[in-house]
Amino acid sequence: MSSGRAHAWASFVGAFAIGIAWGKLTGDWGGAGVAFLGCWPSGVVLTPDLDTAEQKTIEAERTGGRVWQGYWYLYARCFRHRHMAHCPIVGTATRLLYLAIPLLILSFVFQLSFWPPPPLFWPWAVGLVWSDALHWIWDGCPL
Ligand SMILES: [Zn+2]
Repeated sequence: MSSGRAHAWASFVGAFAIGIAWGKLTGDWGGAGVAFLGCWPSGVVLTPDLDTAEQKTIEAERTGGRVWQGYWYLYARCFRHRHMAHCPIVGTATRLLYLAIPLLILSFVFQLSFWPPPPLFWPWAVGLVWSDALHWIWDGCPL
């Protein structure tokens, strides 16, 4: 089991890898920078460990503490720690959907549309998935 600090460090190092990979594969170096930001710091803020109700992690301390933890309390109650919400892609999707709830409410109330997302959403999301994959590996690939 890794600490929040180890996960944050893995995301930081992994951000360079995903940024370079995105740039080399697509030729889009602006998107590469966004993929970097999706992995770090976004991967640290939107950590798979948000499935821990008693979260007392470096991420919580860095990201608004109790307000951030309070927002994720219901999410943590819905998912068992280190299960589905920890899996790369599936866990990332659950956290993005949970994060989008206020946007979905706003779009319903004010008849706004947030779909399709802006083009830079995709490299950001790939960076976030990469960060989650690194987190999952560092946790010992729990299922
Ligand atoms: Zn974890």
